[in-house]
Amino acid sequence: MRVFVTGGAGYIGSVASKHLLDAGHSVTVFDSLELGHEEALDERAEFIKGDLRNYRDILDAMDRARPDAVMHFAAYALVGESSANPGKYFRNNDCGGVNLAEAMNECGVKRIIFSSTCATYGQPDTMPITEATPQRPTNPYGQSKLIFEQMLGWYAKIHAFQPVFLRYFNACGAEGRLGEDHAVETHLIPNLLKVALGQSGRIQIFGGDYNTPDGTCVRDYVHVSDLARAHLLAIESDFSGAVNLGTGHGFSVREIIEAAREVSGHPIPADVAPRRAGDPDFLVSDPSKAAQVLGWKAEHTEPKAIIETAWGWHRAHPSGYAGK
Ligand code: UDP
Repeated sequence: MRVFVTGGAGYIGSVASKHLLDAGHSVTVFDSLELGHEEALDERAEFIKGDLRNYRDILDAMDRARPDAVMHFAAYALVGESSANPGKYFRNNDCGGVNLAEAMNECGVKRIIFSSTCATYGQPDTMPITEATPQRPTNPYGQSKLIFEQMLGWYAKIHAFQPVFLRYFNACGAEGRLGEDHAVETHLIPNLLKVALGQSGRIQIFGGDYNTPDGTCVRDYVHVSDLARAHLLAIESDFSGAVNLGTGHGFSVREIIEAAREVSGHPIPADVAPRRAGDPDFLVSDPSKAAQVLGWKAEHTEPKAIIETAWGWHRAHPSGYAGK
């Protein structure tokens, strides 16, 4: 298949592009390089630089690539930032999303695998989270992703789109030369590894009074290689609809800190700090639908094993992609 990958120079998009190419598909990466990295591009892929917010950029690229399917990763994805600057999120993730959908429609492309998120569920009343759990986001990031899911639902009804909404839980880990490098790092695992590398002094635990066993937030940490594999399965299937991608196991911030200490051998001092706006207390997936409709199950389920892969990448790239 010819696959058009928006955000293919980013963290998850670059790993998914690699999996697609390894499986014999051809890939066109569309990325603004605002947050993506040239170094993460695969030399086997065609690269088109452009911004989703500019309709001409995306229409020209789609027209040139004429893909069979789209994988849509390009987005802003920070809960905290979205809670301070919602317009940035709606403009990129939703206005950019409409541009993408319209360009697809113009070029007759019906199939889209969309990077959605467990943040679309907010803080559900029941755990674990199934695809039927009501979606009530608690932050603009989750809202922006839900809006685009809903928009694609209308494109499915009106223009016969066949969308798949892959609702990721907490993406983490690294694969080979591809890892997580954000200009401003806010994610827990890379921040822990920065402390272990001596690049920052301590980790802040955002909130110690959540309604969880140890008072810190519980998340379902899913390895980027498992996420990429799910994309490949989705694009090679004829399934359309929503699928959770998680391990089905939850770990608290304190448990992840402990795992990072064991992996790195560094004491990683930690302080409890105020809560971060928009964080739900407990998010764990029920991944059974992914097994049923895609034949997918996370292979990496142990935080220590997942953090090992991230630790290997961060040690090899202490200054991120720029340093290599
Ligand atoms: N977190 C933390 N300290 C940090 C970064 C994150 O305590 O330096 C917490 C955050 O509040 C959340 C969890 O770790 O409860 C996972 O956050 P992350 O930003 O990695 O992913 P998110 O859940 O926002 O997608």
